[in-house]
Formats: sequence, C-alpha cells, structure tokens
Amino acid sequence: MKMWREVCSLVADDYFMKRFFYGHSRFLPLHLAFAFQGPSLVSVASNATVFGHAERNCVRYLSTRNIPQKRKSLTLIVVRITSNRTFGMSRPCRNCCKFLKRTIPHARVFYTDTKGTLIEDVWLDSDHLSLSSRPRTHSERSLVDKLSVRDR
Ligand SMILES: [Zn+2]
Repeated sequence: MKMWREVCSLVADDYFMKRFFYGHSRFLPLHLAFAFQGPSLVSVASNATVFGHAERNCVRYLSTRNIPQKRKSLTLIVVRITSNRTFGMSRPCRNCCKFLKRTIPHARVFYTDTKGTLIEDVWLDSDHLSLSSRPRTHSERSLVDKLSVRDR
C-alpha cells in the first residue's frame, strides 16, 4: 500500500521525527496518526500534546484545514513508535473509536499491531480503555475511603 510505504519512510526520517520526539515525555508511548485524502498526506499528529490521543489530534487538524471529514477517500493510519523506532500496538481505544465513527464515518482506519503489522480496524469496536480514562483501581478507592473515614 502506497500510503503505508509513505508512513514507513517518514518514521525512518530523522528530520521528520525530530519534532515529535522533541518535548515528548519518555514515560508515554509515542503514537502518530497520519490522515490521507486519496493518495495525499493531509494531516499528521502525535499524542505528544496536552490534548491527548494522536488520532483525535489528527482529525481535529483536518477540520482546522477545512478538509471535509465525511469523504469516503479518507484513510487514517495510527502507529505506535517504540524507543528503538519499531512499530507497536496502536489500535484506537474505545473513546477514540466512538470519536472516529462520529467525525470521519467513511474513512478507512488502520493501526499497527504488536508485531508491527498494519491491520485495518473495520468495525472500530475496541473495548480497550486507555490508562488515563480507566477508573481508579479498587485499592486506590479503598485508600480514599479509609482516609475520609479517618478525617471524620
Ligand atoms: Zn484513544
């Protein structure tokens, strides 16, 4: 796939990658999302901002550039880049799936799996919650309960 080859060559390009590694927390996995309209790359975004997940930032950037989001010719490729510059699991989380279905309903969405293989997310039906949107664990909750009991 031509778009996938373009993504691979950009990720291998130090000059291109520098702006995403710069300022990026090394405690967060780096995700990048690439949007194509037809064969042309029209938007690239990372999760290295305060706004959150790469795929959402990428779609938001489309709207700021007045690129119609309902087109059938849109393709979104979401990748995770590991510290030794290989691809890792980047399937869109549950919240992003909802967002993508609503904002770019006709787009084809692809992600890299744990082996770095490009997979099409046909149904966008992930039930995976990202770490930041998971509810607190039971032990954290019970600690809060204990503290508030002690305060009384
Ligand atoms: Zn997400």
